Amino acid sequence: MTKKMQDALNIQCNAELESFYIYLAMANDLESKGYKGSAHWMSLQADEEYDHYKQFSSFISDVEGSVSLEGINKPTTTWATIQDVFESGLAHEKTISKKINALVSIAKLEKDYSAENFLQGFVTEQVEEEVTFRDILTELNMIKDNSAGLLMFDKGLGNRSQIK
Ligand code: MG
Repeated sequence: MTKKMQDALNIQCNAELESFYIYLAMANDLESKGYKGSAHWMSLQADEEYDHYKQFSSFISDVEGSVSLEGINKPTTTWATIQDVFESGLAHEKTISKKINALVSIAKLEKDYSAENFLQGFVTEQVEEEVTFRDILTELNMIKDNSAGLLMFDKGLGNRSQIK
């Protein structure tokens, strides 16, 4: 693997850990707002991001590269409404999609076919992540501040059992 590719993949390791941290902060905020089901969902979302980090770091090791960790920025810790939490989540996933696409461009330039192949899974993953957040937001925008609707919505998110 070229140094350019390795550096770019290491930056993504950090971006995935930062996503983990952001979703943990969102889970804490949802919990404090009384949305227990949504907090559970978001905590699994954080676990999923940690899994993404592990996939990136394992790939770097598999191709005999070295993983080097950097600091993680302090995340936002409170949002005005539950809608704002998921709006921020969608906006965040869009920035991650751009980063993944940029990595694919680097892999192509570096003629790194194994990295390109590895990254394809994340191109697909990002489409799914954006759809997931967009669908949740659509529901929340229909419910607005209807308390019965919010209660049902929160129970629904509480049923998430896996990171995928
Ligand atoms: Mg991710």
